[in-house]
Order: sequence, then structure tokens, then C-alpha cells
Amino acid sequence: GFPVCECNSCYGGPDCSELSPACAVNAGSGDPYFLEPFWRQHAASSAVVVAGWHRMGYSYSDNTYMSQELEKRVRILHSIVGNAVTAGRYIVFGAGSTQLLNAAVNALSTDNSSMPAPVVASIPYYPVYKTQTDIFQSINYKFEGDASLWKNSTSDATVNVIEFVTSPNNPDGQPNKAVLSGPNAKAIHDHAYYWPHFSPIPTPADEDVMVFTISKLTGHAGTRFGWAIIKDKAVYDRMIQYMDLNTMGVSRDSQLRALKLLKVVIEGGGREIFDFGYKTMRDRWQKVSETLSKSKRFSLQKIAPQYCNFFHKVRESSPAYAWVKCEREEDRDCNAVLQGANINGRNGSVYSAEDRYVRLSLIRSQDDFDLLFQRLNKLV
Ligand code: PMP
Repeated sequence: GFPVCECNSCYGGPDCSELSPACAVNAGSGDPYFLEPFWRQHAASSAVVVAGWHRMGYSYSDNTYMSQELEKRVRILHSIVGNAVTAGRYIVFGAGSTQLLNAAVNALSTDNSSMPAPVVASIPYYPVYKTQTDIFQSINYKFEGDASLWKNSTSDATVNVIEFVTSPNNPDGQPNKAVLSGPNAKAIHDHAYYWPHFSPIPTPADEDVMVFTISKLTGHAGTRFGWAIIKDKAVYDRMIQYMDLNTMGVSRDSQLRALKLLKVVIEGGGREIFDFGYKTMRDRWQKVSETLSKSKRFSLQKIAPQYCNFFHKVRESSPAYAWVKCEREEDRDCNAVLQGANINGRNGSVYSAEDRYVRLSLIRSQDDFDLLFQRLNKLV
């Protein structure tokens, strides 16, 4: 009596096969359903059963609330993928990377400083950096927008300037580097998309503060599990203190599910999930770029190919999002142009860029993508 699947909002009928022509395709949200077919293929090996008596306590006996088995597996994962150095580094778990973003801002700022530490990012940037930093209204830090405006002020700053560096970037997929340098420039490297699905892996990332998440790795955004890799003991201690005070660590149930999922990822050296992820994302990117290249009205970001040490070859781009630009002078609201063709993306201004840009999500389900592709072809 249970439905096997829910219909995508654009489909109806008893087996979800009837497409409603008027419905707008969702190309807005970054729900990573593109990996659902992989997990359907691995349904049994990825399943978790938890008996009622299991892991009932807070489990603060080790003072970290973190499963050591899971921490070990995270380190193995990075060594297989080659996307981050973990030897000699500390690891902190978070409820998604979202919780770790503010934990890191807090850890890199200082108590009782003369002024709040400026928190900055390069445009276009993921909006949560601002909205989350704003909501805490801390006297220790304050969101100040565009990183490049702080280039000359880090050497003589009396407080740390905290820069969010997203690499590959959301929304445009670029392999960003920190724009600020100097003793007071501290960076939080958000590597949510630094996985072979979306990016060549030229070298293991080796920064002081790095944030990762399973959301875009396995696609389990709803499990809310991420981790930070930290070089400095004092920063690590402040992050652990934040996690203790904020949520007393990450749900043990989430940790258990993450453990099981990572086991499947790691099997066979990660080849299976990353082959699937890369093929899917590459195919989607090729389709979208081929279609949009037929029209002068739209342009797409260009990402340089790089040698990938995971696949051992030069890899073309396969980003999570299309960052579309409307080229006509009068198309200042690019999302409105796309909405006219029943495509719902996200306005450029969400990422502090012009509304001449729109972000289209390419990581949703195959149904969503096929419909997006169909609508784009019609529009072009
Ligand atoms: N950083 C970036 C750049 C993201 O795009 C996202 C998710 N959209 C996150 C962090 C947060 O991911 P989560 O909290 O699910 O780990």
C-alpha cells in the first residue's frame, strides 16, 4: 500500500509518467538527487538498521562526541580520493558543513578584540556565509562582503580578516584561491564540491581550515553530516568547544548512517561512485553547454580542464551548476527570461552578483535534468 516513489512536481498519473506542459522545472535547489540511482543499485549494502538500545547516550566519554571508526573512514576516503591532506590534522564533525562554517568563523575570531573580525568572500559567493554570520550578531565577527576590498588591509589589521574560499565555487564552479594574504588573513576553505563528480583533483588540499560534507559527495544532504580538517590545535579546541555548546556534537544516528555510506563509497577505491558521478555530471554539462552555445543570447562559465590525480587523466569540466549569463542589454533579469520558458533557476543577486546571471542546478534528479534540457532547447 505504500507508494514506491513520489512524483516529481512536473509529472502525474498513476506511474508518474505524464508530463504537465505548463509546470515549471525546478532548477533552483541544490538537492543532489543525481546520485539516487547509484544508491538504488546499492540499496542493501548501504542500508542501516539500528536496534533501540544502540548508542542511547550522549557518548561524551571521549570528550568529542565523535565516532573514531567514522573519523578513520573519513581519513581513508581522503587518501583514496587524494583531495585533502589529513595526516597530522584534527577532524571535527558537524551537522552538515553548515554548522561547521560558523564554528570556524567563531574559532578564527578572538574574544574581547577591539573590533569584530571582518568576514568576507569573493563574488559570486554562497549566500549562507553572509546570512549565517549576520544572524549570530556577534561582537567577535561581522560579515563585510567582497573579499577583494580588503586586499590592502590585512597586513596592518589588528584583528583577523576571515575569508571564505569556496573551491570549486558555488555558483560558478571555479577553483578559487584565497585573495587575501598576510599574517592576519585567515581562510575557511569550503570544499563541498571538491569531489571527482564535479572537479578534477589536481592535488590534495592542504589548507589550515578545510570544510567537507557528505551532502554533495554521497548525495545525503538530509543526513546532515560534514567535517572540518584543522591544522592548528588552538583552532581545533575552539571548534570542539563550539560543537559542545551548540549541539553537543553530531547525532549518533547520522554518524552511523555516514559510516555505512562511506563504507560503500570506499569499496573498490571509490571508482564506482565517482565514475557514475563524473559520467552523469559530464553528460549533463555537455548537453547544457552544447545547447546554450547555439544562442548568442546566453553564455556559460568556462572552466579550464586540469589533470586529475584520481582518474589519472586530464579532465574536462563537470560542474554542479550552470552559471548562465544573459548577454542582451535588455535582459537584465535573466531569471525572468528563463521563467518565460518555464525554467526556475536562482537569481544572480542571491550570490551577490548581477541578475544578468542565473544559477541552474545540474545535480537534481534525471527527470528534472531531462526536463530542464528539453526546456532549454526549446528556448534556444
Ligand atoms: N557550502 C557550499 C558551498 C554549499 O553549496 C553547501 C550546500 N548547498 C554547503 C556548504 C552546505 O552543505 P551541508 O550543510 O549540507 O553540508
